Amino acid sequence: MPYKIDETHDPKLQSWVESANDPATDFPIQNLPIAQYESIGDDDEMVGGYCTVIGDQIVDLTELEGAGLLRVDPDAEPGDGMYLWTSDAFSRDDLLPWSEIRKQLSRLFRKDTPDLRDNDEVRKAAMRPMSEVRFELPMDLIGDYTDFYASLFHATNVGSMFRPDNPLLPNYKHIPIAYHGRASTIVPSGTPVRRPRGQLLPGATIADGPPTFGPCKLLDYELEVGFVVGRGNAMGESIDIHDAEEHILGMCLVNDWSARDIQKWEYVPLGPFLAKNFATTVSPYIVTMEALAPFRCPAMERPIDDPKPLGYLTCEDNLTSGGVDITLEVFLCSSEMRSKGMDPVRLSKGSFRDMYWTIGQMLTHHSANGCQMNPGDLLASGTVSGPTRDARGCMLELTWDGDPFATPPKVVPGTQRTPITLPTGEERKFLADGDEIIIKGYCEREGFRRIGFGECRGVIQPAAD
Ligand code: MN
Repeated sequence: MPYKIDETHDPKLQSWVESANDPATDFPIQNLPIAQYESIGDDDEMVGGYCTVIGDQIVDLTELEGAGLLRVDPDAEPGDGMYLWTSDAFSRDDLLPWSEIRKQLSRLFRKDTPDLRDNDEVRKAAMRPMSEVRFELPMDLIGDYTDFYASLFHATNVGSMFRPDNPLLPNYKHIPIAYHGRASTIVPSGTPVRRPRGQLLPGATIADGPPTFGPCKLLDYELEVGFVVGRGNAMGESIDIHDAEEHILGMCLVNDWSARDIQKWEYVPLGPFLAKNFATTVSPYIVTMEALAPFRCPAMERPIDDPKPLGYLTCEDNLTSGGVDITLEVFLCSSEMRSKGMDPVRLSKGSFRDMYWTIGQMLTHHSANGCQMNPGDLLASGTVSGPTRDARGCMLELTWDGDPFATPPKVVPGTQRTPITLPTGEERKFLADGDEIIIKGYCEREGFRRIGFGECRGVIQPAAD
């Protein structure tokens, strides 16, 4: 792995930003994610741009640089000319690598560093409470978006619903399967999501009647983790598995909203289309691969009888530390729950370490044919499901009664769905209008400071008339 554990990961580091020392914060001094914000400045003008987050504060990177407290361009004198941040800034050879910037930020926020702590003027210009800003998409340009299918547990569960005798297609254990999504409908956490309309079959098959057009009835979420390309590759060239991690800037949470009834009718033979591209919600913070260094883990151990990945998808580092141990939780809050002041109810809890394919393998495979990857491109993992029922990452799996991983397996054609009962007594097999889905993610490991991904939220709005 390209990132070593260094002084920025020291669990004993404390910050003069007191909220960063709260053991429950997602954003201690060891995290320092990248985000974009917008806010109203002192003169009522809009301010914003790239920032980092520490405790409950955002810190504007351009302001820090302008004040000579952050050096981004090694050729510029401190405080000289402000660099206008763009998505390629994190990989440009003429700028300092993010690793260097992270070290500077870590030092700046340390309890004993007075530079920003005691500079009222710069602090006031550069820092704002998170509660007073609006977070935008984490990158200024997400040019392309691809969604993988990298959880064996998800693929097996979903395959079992339609093909109980043969849940996994023959290519699954050889190829990291994906489809190209739409970057145009990626939205930051908190953006309402309108229930899509589309072609729906009235029955199980077309024998029961022709399709109609109308609001989706089987609306679902998909718990996913995204990763952002920092450094791209030229068209016609490929990213080598040994270098793949150096091309990845960091990770975020993703909700790949899915219309199951539209999907079922349209996906043969070319895969998801309108069932997926009406909305994809992302958390606004890129937790960098460097911040995640203490939480790397081996790639999922493949059963002995599974095929070995082909050579271009194999390297020792990928095997020993290609995984990322991120705990992932999904919560639901209905509008009735909100009106009664109830807390969201947890639907599932799983870990990203249970993925069959690693992020390095996904990126390598994506560029193996010479496909060009660009800085800011978003790749998502596919639904993150684990081996147990409470680690299923979407309603399609959660309310399904089958279980190919039970002993003995419980997979019978036409297996029923049991609704989830909410604390209000309401029942859900899929999502209702007004439901809010909240995804949370965090990393914990003995001897290191817990870091988090913040939240990825969205409320379902009724379909258009
Ligand atoms: Mn998906």
